[in-house]
Amino acid sequence: QSLANDMDTDAATVTLPQSDERRWSDTSAYARKKILQSWIQLPNGKWELGKILSTSGEESVLSLAEGKVIKVMSETLVPANPDILDGVDDLMQLSYLNEPSVLYNLNYRYNEDMIYTKAGPVLVAVNPFKEVPLYGNRYIEAYMKRSNDSPHVYAIADTAIREMIRDEVNQSIIISGESGAGKTETAKIAMQYLAALGGGSGIEYEILKTNPILEAFGNAKTLRNDNSSRFGKLIEIHFSETGKISGAQVQTFLLEKSRVVQCAEGERSYHIFYQLCAGASPPLREKLNLKSAREYKYLGQSNCYSINGVDDAERFHTVKEALDIVHVSKEDQESVFAMLAAVLWLGNVSFTVIDNENHVEPVADESLSTVAKLIGCNINELKLSLSKRNMRVGKDTIVQKLTLPQAIDARDALAKSIYSCLFDWLVEQINKSLAVGKRRTGRSISILDIYGFESFDKNSFEQFCINYANERLQQHFNRHLFKLEQEEYIQDGIDWTRVDFEDNQDCLSLFEKKPLGLLSLLDEESTFPNGTDLTLANKLKQHLLSNSCFRGDRGKLFTVVHYAGEVTYETTGFLEKNRDLLHLDSIQLLSSCSCHLPQAFASSMLIQSEKPVVGSLHKAGGADSQRLSVATKFKGQLFQLMQRLGNTTPHFIRCIKPNNVQSPGLYEQGLVLQQLRCCGVLEVVRISRSGFPTRMSHQKFARRYGFLLVENFADKDPLSVSVAILHQFNILPEMYQVGYTKLFFRTGQIGVLEDTRNRT
Ligand code: ATP
Ligand code: MG
Repeated sequence: QSLANDMDTDAATVTLPQSDERRWSDTSAYARKKILQSWIQLPNGKWELGKILSTSGEESVLSLAEGKVIKVMSETLVPANPDILDGVDDLMQLSYLNEPSVLYNLNYRYNEDMIYTKAGPVLVAVNPFKEVPLYGNRYIEAYMKRSNDSPHVYAIADTAIREMIRDEVNQSIIISGESGAGKTETAKIAMQYLAALGGGSGIEYEILKTNPILEAFGNAKTLRNDNSSRFGKLIEIHFSETGKISGAQVQTFLLEKSRVVQCAEGERSYHIFYQLCAGASPPLREKLNLKSAREYKYLGQSNCYSINGVDDAERFHTVKEALDIVHVSKEDQESVFAMLAAVLWLGNVSFTVIDNENHVEPVADESLSTVAKLIGCNINELKLSLSKRNMRVGKDTIVQKLTLPQAIDARDALAKSIYSCLFDWLVEQINKSLAVGKRRTGRSISILDIYGFESFDKNSFEQFCINYANERLQQHFNRHLFKLEQEEYIQDGIDWTRVDFEDNQDCLSLFEKKPLGLLSLLDEESTFPNGTDLTLANKLKQHLLSNSCFRGDRGKLFTVVHYAGEVTYETTGFLEKNRDLLHLDSIQLLSSCSCHLPQAFASSMLIQSEKPVVGSLHKAGGADSQRLSVATKFKGQLFQLMQRLGNTTPHFIRCIKPNNVQSPGLYEQGLVLQQLRCCGVLEVVRISRSGFPTRMSHQKFARRYGFLLVENFADKDPLSVSVAILHQFNILPEMYQVGYTKLFFRTGQIGVLEDTRNRT
């Protein structure tokens, strides 16, 4: 690997691409003749390495592992890199850039526990699903001193700090990847590095302690990840003039509320519920009338109570400690736990039919009375709010009795709002505690850990929002990297031709166009009292079929062509989730409570409901409280986020999940490839490489290949030797540039020299 290490891959002197190389496999006919080994795709889709024994006409004979020899069409061969390039730490260094070579390189490193690899300006992190010896103070120090330069999250964080100070520009670390790929862990590793800079008054410690809190309340076990974040998070870390941490601020996005009342088989609700049930002290249990998790319907429906290797009771203590550290008083903590217990008990409230029109009212049992006690309201008022609905029609108010499904909806809506208000309230407390930096310089590093692109068998409103967010982020990624290249070329005063990026603007327009875009149409339909999931689907099909990123499907289905692939959405539940109505009765109920948290929740809900309303029509679905639709609110948050990120220098980390079973050591080619394609990693390398990514000093080049010269150049200077080598090997002038101290090569050039050298 010595050559690879000696090659200088500092991207600062890249020259502009002249070619319009669009293919992955950059095999010129010339290069193909010289290659020794090649990738061949087996019928099962896997790539295998073979030695080329002979090529005649259109066919080549290859020897594979275990002595197998096969004959294949030469055009199906994809060139493999010389062994010397095995496991290079930047994909830019590969002589042959193609999918099998990239997969092999990442796999090679993965097997050696080198989970980080650069892909030009992007850091790729492959989830090890086990502890790897890459973290902790010893490593942090090495990166601070720059005595370790292998790719790492620490190196990214370090660059961010240096650039923040040097350029006086705010920085961002943008982490993406699918569920379970390692985004949250990566964000924590970056925070760990920044925290090591210290702050004084323990603020850095406080910042780290936000993690166990947010994870307890916002993460859950899903089929994809035992600790899946069900919200997006941006943490902005503020710095003082001296480069010390002075404070921080957390912003969260779109918590998945539905999980509180419903979750799929084998998944869990939010960790904190199980932690509370397992870890509460006897006096607290008594106060909250707390039972074990199995006794609560909300927790029981998915048949999953524990997570392998996780002790919920122990975690509960960690969360309480963390709450202490971010200055949530013991009293407030108790109120928080009471709200959690109230949500659990709400789920146990059952209903009984009271008339011959199937109207119901809640059964006055232990569940109902416990809820009333925990939130501090009158039991009769609770009963009323779960069995009747006040509706304003013009100036009159009419009272509507609820049927069983309506009453269950009202109960679940109340539980969901209590939980999401609680979550927001906690974030607010955390922010109060972290906002200690009095002398802020205004410099910051933001870390974004946001849900990656999702495509399941069934995709609903949540995936719709998440994938929309990813389109926005992808555009940010594209535009930034494109701009970066352009600026460098201009700075170097080099002639350049434009490289076209895969732009996803069309798909973004499909979402955002007014009035005929997905979001506008969704909002419009959400305001129609008679709108249903089917009328929504029909409306989308009616207006959007001409858009190339949209396809109608049968019934409630429609398909969006995302940058990362096609996703078919099912509109079931779209309208309800988008409206996210809370009946005025519930707000009234909460504001009448004697406990301070429900009161605070009620007023925050009221504030929200006073904001401009979806469309202009009144009363959707018979409820009173109107507020911004969920999608519109989310869109607003995203715009704000993009604006904030737009003013920062971004650093991108792409997390890759090597298998779907959360196991160490298992690297599935197909799965990795699909993710690499999704997040545009290969594209970035391609663009970064269309310059002259391979560099070597004249001395090194002359030493390494000088002996191949036919003429004797023994006492010539390295530059002359280098030029002679280039001539002898007929390396075309457009394939290299001679610098003052170094030679710069386009991709694929060194590979040829290496092969010849090895043959000799
Ligand atoms: P989601 O989108 O579902 O929130 P995520 O991308 O945030 O997923 P993480 O929760 O960060 O994924 O990672 C999933 C699991 O993978 C972790 O719980 C941990 O077990 C393992 N993991 C991830 N990164 C590392 C790492 N660097 N070292 C060791 N284990 C890791
Ligand atoms: Mg996560």
